[in-house]
Amino acid sequence: MSEIHEVLIIGSGPAGYTAALYAGRAGLKPVVLAGHQPGGQLMITTDVENYPGYPDGVMGPAMMDDFRKQAERFGAIVLQQHVNEVDFSDAPYTVKTVSGETHRSRTVIVATGASAKWIGLKAEELLGGRGVSACATCDGFFFRGKNVIVVGGGDTAMEEATYLTRHAEKVYVVHRRDTLRASKIMQERAFKNPKIEFIWNTALSDIKDVEAGKVTGVVLRDVNTGAEREMAIDGVFVAIGHEPNTQVFADWLDRDDLGYIVVHDGTKTKIPGIFACGDATDRIYRQAVTAAGTGCMAAIDAERWLEAQE
Ligand code: NAP
Repeated sequence: MSEIHEVLIIGSGPAGYTAALYAGRAGLKPVVLAGHQPGGQLMITTDVENYPGYPDGVMGPAMMDDFRKQAERFGAIVLQQHVNEVDFSDAPYTVKTVSGETHRSRTVIVATGASAKWIGLKAEELLGGRGVSACATCDGFFFRGKNVIVVGGGDTAMEEATYLTRHAEKVYVVHRRDTLRASKIMQERAFKNPKIEFIWNTALSDIKDVEAGKVTGVVLRDVNTGAEREMAIDGVFVAIGHEPNTQVFADWLDRDDLGYIVVHDGTKTKIPGIFACGDATDRIYRQAVTAAGTGCMAAIDAERWLEAQE
């Protein structure tokens, strides 16, 4: 039988690594199952300008590298394994990974974060990686001198659009309303950028051309009149928000209507010894700094829970 861990952390964004740092410093030898994409959403971000302590900003991947190193310095073991099954019926709890490993732990901290949402068009799926993307920093380079659209009106959409102007000739932001959800500073930056043009009150209803195997245009729908029109375009970036990565816990933990794990008294879930933190639990703030803060809380909650068992 494998060793029983004191603290097993699922996820490796700011929440997971901060939980690992605190649990490591508490001498609990935490094991972090980092998932397919260690580092979480910040790995596909460029400049992070709002994380305190970096007056000049920092690149997302560099910051996550620092988070990991700091956790490892205090004994955290980071494994690149992706969890696909859990059994929380009895402690020690069992967590299984895609690669076939089984871990058992007295406490589990869920820090699985969130992933980009898609509109749900068939063409979006068929043309993914062929002109359709949800990550400007990953794919923007392929659109040098081209015209692209960004769908969405939040901070992610503004950030993607602004970043894409480094490569693309023209960036159209297609938004379903006539006001943005994005923060003032991000809005102003986008409004000031001469390469960005807004297309208001408009939804993306289709992407062309699946038969050609690449993006050649889009069908846009005016949400007020229902009128549709075609527009030639080289790339489509979908930036309409995120959904929590919590499906694997559906049978065990309470989740709200949007899938966020329900926590009480800090980071406790309904199962004793199972804690949750970061974007997997947060439908309101969803910031790196708030994720890190709740990761710290989860580690302290796990430590106190273990102490209380002794
Ligand atoms: P968000 O704030 O939820 O915004 C999503 C946007 O997409 C909204 O404008 C929404 O329209 C639109 N949308 C949603 N579903 C849609 C659909 N099916 N079709 C068309 N449009 C749709 O998500 P986010 O921009 O990813 O931001 C998430 C959180 O991360 C926020 O708290 C944000 O502040 C934070 N964030 C911060 C930074 C930063 O500070 N640097 C960068 C990125 C994200 P409506 O407005 O009509 O609802």
